[in-house]
Amino acid sequence: MEVLKVENLSKNYGQIKALKEVNFSVPAGTVFGILGPNGSGKTTLLGIIMDVLKASGGSYRLFGQEPTHEHRKQIGTLLETPNFYHYMTAVQNLKVSAAIKERGEDDIDRVLEIVNLAARKNSRFSTYSLGMKQRLAIGAALLGNPDVLVFDEPTNGLDPVGIAEIRELIKKLSQQGKTIIMASHLLDEVEKVCTHVAILKQGNLLTYGDVNEILVNEDVVEIRSSEMSRMEDVMKRIPGHTSIKLSEGNLHLLFPAGTADLASVNRFCFDNGITLSHLQLKKKSLESKFFELTN
Ligand code: ATP
Repeated sequence: MEVLKVENLSKNYGQIKALKEVNFSVPAGTVFGILGPNGSGKTTLLGIIMDVLKASGGSYRLFGQEPTHEHRKQIGTLLETPNFYHYMTAVQNLKVSAAIKERGEDDIDRVLEIVNLAARKNSRFSTYSLGMKQRLAIGAALLGNPDVLVFDEPTNGLDPVGIAEIRELIKKLSQQGKTIIMASHLLDEVEKVCTHVAILKQGNLLTYGDVNEILVNEDVVEIRSSEMSRMEDVMKRIPGHTSIKLSEGNLHLLFPAGTADLASVNRFCFDNGITLSHLQLKKKSLESKFFELTN
């Protein structure tokens, strides 16, 4: 089942095209990352889905249907830092959130347990660390036990411990069967917590799908010889490679991360009558792949 399907979604702010005919869908049970640098349109996209912004064009469906208020009530959101009251305790603040979200107060203890704040539930919000504040915000999103959660940059501004806690929490929620849609500008974060990713750049969707397919790590073996075209034909038969391409006068053989072996590449060439004038292993990091996609 698809939780969300976005079709040709566009958003203009005057001359600025924040989203340009974006298409993708989010399967149920995934942790779906919307990855892109600042200003790529992530917040705009989430805002449209949650009906705080109007699209300029295109449409989207929730749970396979035309979106309604009832559908959105099944989605817990963390779009911006919520306005908790500093002088109130966690419990008091969640009572306010429950009233605003038209959700029952009876869920508060369960939610505080999940976000690991039960022991501090009667402390004032002003005494909380940033990480605890963010966990309380996620707690507010969990009120009413929605199946789908939408988080905009859930670890922004936190220290490494706070970041790790939120990531663990997201994984835990995923294991409980929740679908989580989260915006992030951090490749590393998406790689660590997401099962799926959509990459946005200046309002364009560059690619989307399974994280393991899109953010795959690769070894690149760079080779050169005096007979490039014959070599290219020969190398198409080398075992274990995933693809071959010409790059600035060199041939690049791609292998899954950690599997490239220079000696066997050299031997394969030699056995096929090709003498290499250049042979080098280059690691292609996820960073460089992301950089390549977004630059
Ligand atoms: P960030 O992580 O910095 O929030 P983002 O990927 O979420 O970035 P958006 O906030 O959706 O990106 O912004 C996309 C583009 O739309 C940017 O160029 C931004 O300046 C512009 N934009 C966003 N909101 C408005 C607005 N209310 N009025 C005019 N332009 C806007």
